[in-house]
Amino acid sequence: MSTPKFFSAFLTVLILPAALLAQTASVNLQPAVGAADPADETKGAPRLERFDPNLVDKALDPCSDFYKYSCSKWLGANPIPPDQVFWGTGSGLQLWNENLLRETLEAAAKASNRSAVQQKIGDYWAACMDESGIEGAGLKPLQPELDRIAALKSKKEISSEISHLHHLYPGAWQPADNQSNSPFFGFTGQQDYDDASKVVVQIDQGGLSLPNRDYYLNTDAKSVEILKKYRAHLQKMFVLAGETEAQAATDAGNVIDLETAMAKAQMDNVKRRDPKNINNKMSLAQVRELTPSIDWEVYLKTVKAPASEHYIVTSPDFFRAEEKLLQEHPLEQWQAYLRWQVIHRSAPYLNKALVDENFDFFAHTLAGAEQQQPRWRRCVRAADRDLGEALGQAYVDRAFPPESKARTIQMVHAIEQALSEDIQSLGWMSPATKQQAIIKLKGIEDKIGYPQHWRDYSSVKIARDIYLSNVAQASSFEFERWVAKVGKPVDRGEWTMTPPTINAYYDPQLNTINFPAGILQPPFFDPSKDDAVNYGAIGMVIGHEIIHGFDDQGRKFDAHGNLRDWWTADDGKQYDERGKCISDEYTQEVPEAGAGVKQNGLLTQGEDTADNGGIHLALNALQATLKQQGKSLDDKGPDGWTYRQRFFLANAYSWCANVRPEIARLIVTTDPHSLPVFRIDNVMSNMTEFQQAFGCKTGQRMVRANACRVW
Ligand SMILES: [Zn+2]
Repeated sequence: MSTPKFFSAFLTVLILPAALLAQTASVNLQPAVGAADPADETKGAPRLERFDPNLVDKALDPCSDFYKYSCSKWLGANPIPPDQVFWGTGSGLQLWNENLLRETLEAAAKASNRSAVQQKIGDYWAACMDESGIEGAGLKPLQPELDRIAALKSKKEISSEISHLHHLYPGAWQPADNQSNSPFFGFTGQQDYDDASKVVVQIDQGGLSLPNRDYYLNTDAKSVEILKKYRAHLQKMFVLAGETEAQAATDAGNVIDLETAMAKAQMDNVKRRDPKNINNKMSLAQVRELTPSIDWEVYLKTVKAPASEHYIVTSPDFFRAEEKLLQEHPLEQWQAYLRWQVIHRSAPYLNKALVDENFDFFAHTLAGAEQQQPRWRRCVRAADRDLGEALGQAYVDRAFPPESKARTIQMVHAIEQALSEDIQSLGWMSPATKQQAIIKLKGIEDKIGYPQHWRDYSSVKIARDIYLSNVAQASSFEFERWVAKVGKPVDRGEWTMTPPTINAYYDPQLNTINFPAGILQPPFFDPSKDDAVNYGAIGMVIGHEIIHGFDDQGRKFDAHGNLRDWWTADDGKQYDERGKCISDEYTQEVPEAGAGVKQNGLLTQGEDTADNGGIHLALNALQATLKQQGKSLDDKGPDGWTYRQRFFLANAYSWCANVRPEIARLIVTTDPHSLPVFRIDNVMSNMTEFQQAFGCKTGQRMVRANACRVW
């Protein structure tokens, strides 16, 4: 995720994009296999990958393609399993983490004299794993929702239905890179951009089911083909939910018409990256005036929204268009759209026919998966999403010892020191801006592993009988929890990723960096390895998150999280020139994603800046750490490689990944992160330190003529 909540995550390719996660963290099929002990790798799967410099392919030239040099042997030996859309060195960790969670869930399901936490996670697990119960119930759990929609008497009543659906399914409170993935629009409590000490209502564009607006509007052959398959999918889903073929065809047409009109009016994901573009403050009267067809009285009351000082409407044009659509289209067409919303969003939690058809379009056609993931993995992911801080407590106890936390903190401090020195030494930045930058850097709060206080789920009712109801209960709790923040003091301790998550993020409005315990594991952090390897892998991740505070988006926020320009005009101009070098470099063809697919460097500029700056910081911190030990970067380690070489090799190794073209295309179109190959080759071709490590010469591919450097 990143935009309107504006937190900049580290990876996307390791997990399915959020838009797909809801669809795929779903249902069925293979019986669970015998659980391995994740703490004991010797018992077989799952295996954690650990850096080994002997994996490089010495027949290749590191100066021609460093990613291939570092990864091709691993990539050749590790094809993508049929149920996965990519497979990288971090994928073993994903499986390892999920196995550990599964053991916790299974134990909680069976335990007697359970704690409140065990009851919730255990019953959630049992209901999700109960395939025969779910199959036997058929469409029954869906029926009350279809009945509600059938009972709507006027368009005015749609507003309370929107509120109901925003409670029922995850998404409304999570503004993502392209939109809020929820019916009609998104709605949440959010720190004010101009005064981060206040929480106000934010109303976001939403309403689409495909990953973003481009999927409806692009006219190239591949896009047209996907849209055609989407139409067929809509029809099949309506039929599976009980409609006649004729009705299903009409409904599919209506849904596509409405979603396409919404897509046209949505702000694109590049424009959406600039906080100034979405910081549109309105009074409640203005919101009402913008969309009189939405009954805000009813909506605000039913979502229990406290009064907000003002309302941020991220994309007024979108709401103008939605108003027009509400006026022009009859109730029957909106009922078709609403039916689609409940069928589509409930499908992962219902019977096999719906699960399979949902998989076929969203995971197979859009992302390239050939088979469904085993049910246990889908249930683990759903439990992590819905009850993550209850489930995560046991993960932290078992997988994140205090020594790991202490060593991570040491690295974080060394990397922050490296940025401080980098800022002081910059030739292009004036002393006035440097002073402000140092204030911001010193203001960063480091959050490592897990939250200090665990979320209280006591009001969430979880039972063993109906899986879909458990999802709705958890979703409703989370939605109202976000909305209830409005008007209250900011909770600085909160995390927006769960402890087992293999990811990390910077939050510019809290000015915090956050590293969940889930990523502080091999191959990213390996307690058994030396500093060169750990700075190369997790050190670069740490540097990346810190740099997010100073990328083209983060630099617009000050130390307190306010959207305030602390740059002199000339320094801002200097920054933009350097940023443009990066965005030009990454505006490139991506053959891995299909012919003609092009990356927009303006979409990925923040992430690319963080990658490029992050690795510099990590290398400088390693150098300082080695110096304290009386060593230098060019000393040889025990295996014959220099520390400098081990640093770069470990960095590349942590990124080795086979990626299916379908998911590659999806990422290039919708995601602000570059694909793994570019996170290595583009970054390193900008670095003289890399060229020094492997003796690369001017004119070779890994030596860029117009090397870019921001931080
Ligand atoms: Zn990032």
